[in-house]
Amino acid sequence: MEIAIQPAMPTYSGGLGVLAGDTLRSAADLGVPVTAFTLLHRKGYFQQHLDATGLQTEEVQPWNPADFCTEEAARVTVSVEDRVVTVRAWRYNLEGRFGHIVPIYLLDTDLDGNSGWDRGLTDHLYGGDTNYRLQQEIVLGMGGVRMASALGLQVNVYHMNEGHAALLTLALLESQLGGGPLSVATEADIEQVRRKCVFTTHTPVPAGHDRFSTEQSIRILGGDRTARLEKLGCFRDGLLNMTLLALRFSRYANGVAMQHGRVSRNMFPEFAIDSITNGVHAATWISGPVQQMLDEEVPTWRRDHLYLRNLVDLQETKILAAHAQAKDDLLAEVASRTGMVLNPKVLTLGFARRAATYKRATLLFTDPQRLQAIAEAAGGLQIIYAGKAHPQDEPGKALIQKVVEDASKYGNDTLRVVYLENYAWDLGALLTAGVDVWVNNPRRPYEASGTSGMKAAMNGVPSLSILDGWWIEGCIEGVTGWAIEDGDSDEEEAQSLYRKLETAVVPLYRDEPEKWGRLMRTTLAYNGSYFNTDRMIRQYSRNAYYPGVLVEKAKVVEEAYAD
Ligand SMILES: *Cc1c(COP(=O)(O)O)cnc(C)c1O
Repeated sequence: MEIAIQPAMPTYSGGLGVLAGDTLRSAADLGVPVTAFTLLHRKGYFQQHLDATGLQTEEVQPWNPADFCTEEAARVTVSVEDRVVTVRAWRYNLEGRFGHIVPIYLLDTDLDGNSGWDRGLTDHLYGGDTNYRLQQEIVLGMGGVRMASALGLQVNVYHMNEGHAALLTLALLESQLGGGPLSVATEADIEQVRRKCVFTTHTPVPAGHDRFSTEQSIRILGGDRTARLEKLGCFRDGLLNMTLLALRFSRYANGVAMQHGRVSRNMFPEFAIDSITNGVHAATWISGPVQQMLDEEVPTWRRDHLYLRNLVDLQETKILAAHAQAKDDLLAEVASRTGMVLNPKVLTLGFARRAATYKRATLLFTDPQRLQAIAEAAGGLQIIYAGKAHPQDEPGKALIQKVVEDASKYGNDTLRVVYLENYAWDLGALLTAGVDVWVNNPRRPYEASGTSGMKAAMNGVPSLSILDGWWIEGCIEGVTGWAIEDGDSDEEEAQSLYRKLETAVVPLYRDEPEKWGRLMRTTLAYNGSYFNTDRMIRQYSRNAYYPGVLVEKAKVVEEAYAD
């Protein structure tokens, strides 16, 4: 549903889109033969504005596809309610480091001949209500399959990245039946579809799984399809569940971290769900100064990120110096955006997440006196926040206001707190590379993976996080960061967060810069070498796309040795 293709294209909202983009960037670098489909999102997600009290308002982000993409001549149609909607595609060429192209097709319904409503179906990412969403999912899933065919693509494997794309299975089944009614589909027909489909689920939060009422399904998809989907067990609690639909029609399914695989198996016990842990695209998220340092110290890192493991004996001063530059770049951006001049010597924490309540953005302010004491012991403390709330998420918006309120109530010369507007790609890169510690404290087990801590690790920045999502696999206490220990309440977990700051983070940062440099070095060596999308796309190739076939046969590495 979303892909972060490049910073100037507002075709993504957050983690899901950034991950999709990073995956495709690695596929392009490694020469993996994939093609991606998404919606055009002519009006983008939204630009966030915060007033002095932290009240969020949203502005549309119209953009011109022709500035980035070329229009394809092909046209396909999908049926939505009782209408026929025509779909076109814009092609974006995503080029890898050796010139391999991964085409991304952005589907668009803004065409003469479509009704005014239908022309807007590809306008807003996560806009509108569930009726709008189901109609968009028809364009994405069914339109995507038909467009692939109209473009002449020979597809071996369809990868549904999240349930948003699950309706592609219906288009495949219908094409299997030569356009006949779904009611005549046999088990063998369904098996044919299953052999071509794989699926990744992305969230353990039940509300994160798209669900639609029977009434909506009948009205928008049609009675015949709805009856078939019910028969196939794609309804749960009386609702059409897109995750169930995707699972029913996939030969392979996975969650996005070890723990998320477990949680997903509990949510859907009738299915075998594997896990492939997420990563980030190294060259996209490592800051300029750190990349330059790596090019000097381990020049092979670009070809094969496993060589980052060789950083175990890097001189501490090298990583400290590169990081100091990245921190300066971040602080310059903070100053230009807010006028607040932060001190590059002072311990700086980063917290940037979508403002969903389970992510507990205000946990650090549970005990303001204790936080103040920590700031004094540290010789100052700076905390940089950022994050958007979904326009319809009132509790999320209230959370941003609470953080902004806390920031002005408790902020002073020793404890500086700033909330930056409009968290997006560029700011994400500056923040994850420039802070000293990345903080993440969601309520367990709602974090499927999380990727911003991986971006930080790629830059040698340790995390201080709840043991959920990727951090269960990434945390080596005192070596790659620190765990906030599990408690029975928010209060208890806040105590653990403070304790770790007091006993581990602050003394090390304040008194032992050399040891801090070693911590940064092991963070980059151990976690950078693993939590990247080059490793991840190889795992998809081996486990999901081509099980039993050597990755080398799938032409993964050929181009990588072309130079
Ligand atoms: C990386 C990133 C995200 C996702 O972060 P998570 O830690 O996975 O929640 C969201 N938005 C932006 C702008 C990012 O760069």
